[in-house]
Amino acid sequence: MHTRAEWDRLPNENSASLWQKPESVAAVPFDKEWLLHLTQHLQTTLDIEELIRVYAAESADVVPFAQVSYRNPERDLLVEYGRRARHSCSYALAILDQDLGILTYTRSRPFSDTDTQRLELLTGHLLFPLRNALLYHQAVAAAAKDPLTLVNNRAALDETLDREISLAQRHATPLTVLMIDLDHFKAVNDRYGHVVGDHVLKAFTARVAESYRASDIFFRYGGEEFTLVLRNTELAGAACLAERIRESVENRPMTTDAGPVSLTVSIGVAELANGDHAASLLGRADAALYTSKAQGRNRVTATR
Ligand code: GH3
Ligand code: MG
Ligand code: MG
Repeated sequence: MHTRAEWDRLPNENSASLWQKPESVAAVPFDKEWLLHLTQHLQTTLDIEELIRVYAAESADVVPFAQVSYRNPERDLLVEYGRRARHSCSYALAILDQDLGILTYTRSRPFSDTDTQRLELLTGHLLFPLRNALLYHQAVAAAAKDPLTLVNNRAALDETLDREISLAQRHATPLTVLMIDLDHFKAVNDRYGHVVGDHVLKAFTARVAESYRASDIFFRYGGEEFTLVLRNTELAGAACLAERIRESVENRPMTTDAGPVSLTVSIGVAELANGDHAASLLGRADAALYTSKAQGRNRVTATR
């Protein structure tokens, strides 16, 4: 999740209400009761973006700041509220040795000792709710991944394809899908065993990843079948990519513990047409794949 949220509740730097406020005087009493209220409020959500929004809205009442930003590079997360200013105060967030990311407050005048003491106390109250939200985020992300290959799974495909089809139809942009099936994969398992078979599946997904763009979305459809969804791509372009994938698999055997394993793939390509839905589009790609298999495998078939 890359998030850069605009938020109008935080006073920005030019806001008179912010800068006329004496630095040491809080807008609300900063006491135990207020901190309890903050804790309760932070426990109302497991959504990271919403959590930081709630936290920022509450905290700005007791320590004026222009922006709060939360970043967690490990999880590819960036959440920002307000507008960045010159002076900053950063906290590396951690529970025991568990790294939770970095929280930074900025404003155009320096933070006083009172401010930093308050920020430390406030930041401490964010730790456990944030850890819970990160665990939830991790669980949700894991539910969309295939555990063996770590590419998106079938459940994620169903969701993504519905969304991509609506977008493509609304914006009148092309959308294509590739159905990719490993040829005679049963023979790989029979010859080398399932463990090596698993290894080949992983090596194959890494190989395919060399060919597609960041905007393309790759899924394990099931077993040794994979689906690639190409945004903004017409049939001819998709067929070219399919051919590149087919060649790169045929030309370079997969590296495994049992040595190199040669492999080929058959691919079916279909483009979104008027009146299509996910099942009909996948059905055409599947029919094209079937044609590739029937005509001898290790080939690409594209249909409109
Ligand atoms: P075809 O060219 O017609 O696609 O032949 P195939 O042997 O690839 O197709 P078939 O459907 O007969 O067999 C698929 C094989 O894929 C059988 C199954 O054991 C294997 N397979 C499916 N999922 C996995 C997996 O996660 N790991 C391993 N090692 N093998 C798998
Ligand atoms: Mg197969
Ligand atoms: Mg198959």
